[in-house]
Amino acid sequence: MALVNEHFLKLPGSYLFSDIAKKVNSFRITHPQTKLIRLGIGDVTRPLPAACIEAMHKAVDEMANAKTFRGYGPEQGYPFLIEAIIKNDYAPRGIRLDPSEVFISDGAKSDTGNIGELLRWDNSMAVTDPVYPVYVDSNIMCGRSGTQSEDGKWSNVTYLPCTAGNGFVPDLPAHRVDLIYLCYPNNPTGTTLTKEQLKKWVDYALANDTLLVFDAAYEAYIHDNNVPHSIYEIRGAKKVAIEIRSFSKTAGFTGMRCGYTIVPKELTAATLGNERIALNPLWNRRQCTKFNGTSYITQRAAEAIYTPEGKQQVKDTIEYYMTNAKTMKEGLEAAGLSVSGGINAPYLWVKTPEKVGSWKFFEQMLYEANVVSTPGVGFGPNGEGYVRLTAFGTHEDCEEGIRRIRNWLK
Ligand code: PLP
Repeated sequence: MALVNEHFLKLPGSYLFSDIAKKVNSFRITHPQTKLIRLGIGDVTRPLPAACIEAMHKAVDEMANAKTFRGYGPEQGYPFLIEAIIKNDYAPRGIRLDPSEVFISDGAKSDTGNIGELLRWDNSMAVTDPVYPVYVDSNIMCGRSGTQSEDGKWSNVTYLPCTAGNGFVPDLPAHRVDLIYLCYPNNPTGTTLTKEQLKKWVDYALANDTLLVFDAAYEAYIHDNNVPHSIYEIRGAKKVAIEIRSFSKTAGFTGMRCGYTIVPKELTAATLGNERIALNPLWNRRQCTKFNGTSYITQRAAEAIYTPEGKQQVKDTIEYYMTNAKTMKEGLEAAGLSVSGGINAPYLWVKTPEKVGSWKFFEQMLYEANVVSTPGVGFGPNGEGYVRLTAFGTHEDCEEGIRRIRNWLK
């Protein structure tokens, strides 16, 4: 008899976005003529940069020829992409990385979800609240989260509230924890940490022997000079942090699937016998066993982002979305709503008026303004009373969506 991993049975019944899809579908069935404006889900709308398309065509031609055909590639990723990442994303910020510290993946979701495999099931952990759901769910799956109480919280998870009161910047945990997930620029609140703020987390981790998983999927949206792009800009971070990045929102790779994870050689965790073990060889071993590499064609496309044309095209796309974010923020504020984010991140975190609950405001906006948002409470208890809007739509849809919301709230 095969016994099931019962931790899976503890997972929340259905995923936030499928609940939203169900509600949107029932609206569409009852209102077939109404055009909805979707400002909810964090998927991009702009096509891939032309440089990526060109690189892929070339790579496809290579695959068509026996002399240049590529089969399995290195599980860690091709050196051409790893070198481009080090040269463009890290070296200019004074961060030196060895190629063996960079692992190309099929995106940040897999890596944020899988990284916990390196750690014993009984480590304590902390997440910000609200939070990208993958961090908690992947820990529920291996039993690390403990048991769930009536308020939905897990016994072995420390929740770090991000509220209007603290400017959506969480306080350090009041006690020591083994593992902390941080995401900056943040999904869903759109906030960032300055260098001084991020340094506090690195210092905490160094003082408490805590492992930080730093999800920088939205790094490309950073605009302000005092916001670090990488956690390794903070001294000592290589001893305590894994950094995870994605090409999804940087260059429209949501359907292509490519990202990368940095596991520095200095980074260690302990055995019960207090021996220090480097995590880099463990992640390498894990990837070699369970992952057979991102496709050659995709990695060539990712490499093209770092060419002069690719860089310009990526910049243009990000500017496109951030112009949306500005229009949306200004329009929502003019409608009397309180909005954070949207400056160094493509997300707007919008306070619902008059203490209306997240789901209620979501439904009102859907039925009365015909705009789709994401209920903030879906990201954690402290998301109650908020909705998240994304700037990833077309200019036209973002303008129309905000016009509808303004008319509705008049
Ligand atoms: N991390 C965060 C914070 C995200 O918001 C997302 C996607 O929405 C991901 C990771 C997943 O990125 P990828 O498409 O690379 O899997």
